[in-house]
Amino acid sequence: MIHDFTYLKPGTLREALSMLADHKDEYKIICGGQSLLIVMRQGLVVTDYLIDIKGLNELSYITYDEREGLRIGATTTHRTVETSELIKQKYPVLVAIEKRLASIQVRNWGTIAGNLAHGDSSGDLAPTLIALDGKIKLSSARGSRTIPLEEFYTGLFETALNKDELVVEVQVPPARLLTATAYKKFNLIESDQAVIGVAATVAADRNSTCRDARIVLSNAGVTPIRAKSGEKVLIGKKLSDALLTEAAEAAANEADPVSDIHASEEYRRHLIRVLTKRMVRQAWEEAIRLG
Ligand SMILES: Cc1cc2nc3c(=O)[nH]c(=O)nc-3n(C[C@H](O)[C@H](O)[C@H](O)COP(=O)(O)OP(=O)(O)OC[C@H]3O[C@@H](n4cnc5c(N)ncnc54)[C@H](O)[C@@H]3O)c2cc1C
Repeated sequence: MIHDFTYLKPGTLREALSMLADHKDEYKIICGGQSLLIVMRQGLVVTDYLIDIKGLNELSYITYDEREGLRIGATTTHRTVETSELIKQKYPVLVAIEKRLASIQVRNWGTIAGNLAHGDSSGDLAPTLIALDGKIKLSSARGSRTIPLEEFYTGLFETALNKDELVVEVQVPPARLLTATAYKKFNLIESDQAVIGVAATVAADRNSTCRDARIVLSNAGVTPIRAKSGEKVLIGKKLSDALLTEAAEAAANEADPVSDIHASEEYRRHLIRVLTKRMVRQAWEEAIRLG
């Protein structure tokens, strides 16, 4: 059962931020409602005010520029990202992810900021955007701040959002030469969340040596986890099967997965090993192939 609440619908971002400032401790933001309504129905979230930002078209945009990179507005839907020619050209990994994220109905209505702000560590976008060195812009009536997405996640379904802040934008640095990102999730039901997901970015140099790397895990702990010891194994080395095995082992050791009805902790670590090897190889080979 959903408890009674007062429904507020701001017409502009400015109005929305002033509503957040007025109702600080008693509101919940709703955008597509795809995740929020589930937890409200379960009685896990009870609120006095529901502030509906879905109609804020000023936050629905995708832009790219060679200096600033990619900007995605908060109310942009998954489906808009999935079908964006610009994103397909510059960040094909994001389109590939969207095609396997939820169902088309959820993608049509659910938004990028809703996905990230929900704080579910089994999400697909957060690890991939962290692998892409993404940032998140947060605004309140007091002003705006932009932080690395990696720092946005602070605990189980917890984020760095202050009570009067709204996610307004996601930012990704310009696509770089000799650099590629790959993501894969293992799930039991197609269109469902990851049992384990692994995102990997590899930046190579002209000799095909790994110059920089990121490995980020989904559903391997209470937040997306950056497997930094796995990354270190790769930097300065040439691609080889033994190297990938070593990096994958380090990533599996760094993870903190649980056992639940979907998979045991041991099986999740096994999946991390398998997917890390595959994703690092895929990103590395793509980085060299695309140049
Ligand atoms: C059946 C199903 C399958 C799914 N499968 C996947 C999957 O495979 N992979 C995956 O990654 N995700 C999956 N999801 C999650 C889905 O991506 C999210 O439900 C959706 O993106 C949430 O967006 P929304 O706009 O509906 O957010 P809402 O449900 O409206 O909000 C979600 C949370 O974010 C907060 N919020 C929303 N917008 C903002 C904002 N701008 N600023 C601050 N806080 C905000 C809300 O207060 C709430 O806490 C699935 C969901 C469903 C229902």
